[in-house]
Amino acid sequence: MTVFRLRRALGVIAPACVAAFALTSSPAIANPQAALEAALERAPNPAPARNVILFIGDGMGVSTVTATRILAGQRAGADGASYDLAFDQMPYGGLVRTYSVDGLVTDSANGASAITTGYRTINGALGVDGETRRGVCDPTRNVPTLAQRAKRELGKAVGVVSTAAITDASPAAFYAHSPARSWQSDADLPAAAREAGCVDIAAQLVMAADDIRPDIALGGGLSFFQPKSAGGRREDGQDLPALWAARPDSAFVTDRDSLNLAVAEGRDVLGLFAPVHIPHEVNRPSVAPQIPTLEEMTRAAITRLGTAPEGYVLLVEAAHIDKAHHAGLLNASLTEGIELSKAVAAAMSMTDPADTLIIVTADHSHGLTLNGGGRGDDVLGLIQGPAGEPRLAGDGLPVPILLYATGPGGAEAGAGRPDLDGVDLTAIDHVRQAGVRLGSAAHTGEDVPAYAQGPSAHLVTGSMDQPYLFQVMRHALRLPAEAP
Ligand SMILES: [Zn+2]
Repeated sequence: MTVFRLRRALGVIAPACVAAFALTSSPAIANPQAALEAALERAPNPAPARNVILFIGDGMGVSTVTATRILAGQRAGADGASYDLAFDQMPYGGLVRTYSVDGLVTDSANGASAITTGYRTINGALGVDGETRRGVCDPTRNVPTLAQRAKRELGKAVGVVSTAAITDASPAAFYAHSPARSWQSDADLPAAAREAGCVDIAAQLVMAADDIRPDIALGGGLSFFQPKSAGGRREDGQDLPALWAARPDSAFVTDRDSLNLAVAEGRDVLGLFAPVHIPHEVNRPSVAPQIPTLEEMTRAAITRLGTAPEGYVLLVEAAHIDKAHHAGLLNASLTEGIELSKAVAAAMSMTDPADTLIIVTADHSHGLTLNGGGRGDDVLGLIQGPAGEPRLAGDGLPVPILLYATGPGGAEAGAGRPDLDGVDLTAIDHVRQAGVRLGSAAHTGEDVPAYAQGPSAHLVTGSMDQPYLFQVMRHALRLPAEAP
């Protein structure tokens, strides 16, 4: 029996839920007039930003935000629709167009790179300009990232945090340049690319010059940094974590306790907590409790970077919103969205909006739809009819409140849509139904949201182009338009 049917069996009917939930809804939602008065009092902050924190919810389109918000509210025992995620409380925001040089729909490499460099490129490439050709190494096409410019030109400290491999496309777009996102270790780098002067992404992170290298980098991806002799992928024999740790005041860490110690000691920290990606949060506490959460990594990074005399720039990516969406694992994906909200809440509480610009956005969207449901119904469940039984569609089968456009939950060729009545749709391994079967759900090309607070946050408004977000952050930091 599904959760919502259990609720109905217990007599918890929707109208009673709505009445109770109204007491716990967001102040701005509960009192629109007070929200207007707060907006009328709001003044733009044109001052330079000491710090910039960019959060990327990978694959976090508008419908994913809505579904995450509802699930977060319901898990908190409140009404989902009127609940606030942390970034719902930011004063400014707008919509962002997300295409690539060669596609209506972008991947994470171009999407993140457009935000972190101000240049669109082709799908699959990062830290390079729009003339780049797929997999063709041409270092003259490299463009500096916001983080590299902020450190070199302004002396800012730099941090990068992700639940993916730290060499995965989105985090790599903060510190690396590659015409192929797959060149994560030297074993992944074609000989022709090496001869043309390209370096794998892991080596770019560790071997970077002092004036651009991140001060703290936390995520997964250990296998891309270690030689085969140590269980990694590298064929050049380099032990990159050992090289990092051998530098003065530097530490390589692999669990929460050693991370917190290294941060307390003020070291430059490379934290690699998994061979590739950190486990989904729905699994992490049971399979790897020693791995820090996204919120814990964010807190560690802000604590470490907060000691920098000239301020800092930090990228935090919630990678598994996207990776779980690809696999049709809806509970896991939305749980990662809630984890992102916790990390944003931590950043908002640890920083001063007078001097720290925080932007929360996505690199691209995913094809999730919210198709109906009562206010008190479990958002992971089925749309209910008036008699408390699933409402049936034209094919005689029930319809989930949340459905994917594409993905592994689509029907096989020649097979019909499965009957979901009686299926536990809340299970963490349940593959959500999709309209069209694809082995991996497709990214989608509609606009994504952006939310902002702090200096120059008022410039995050209206209909924006993805590279414009780079310009807002550049302006907030008072970096010149072009790198010297
Ligand atoms: Zn993806």
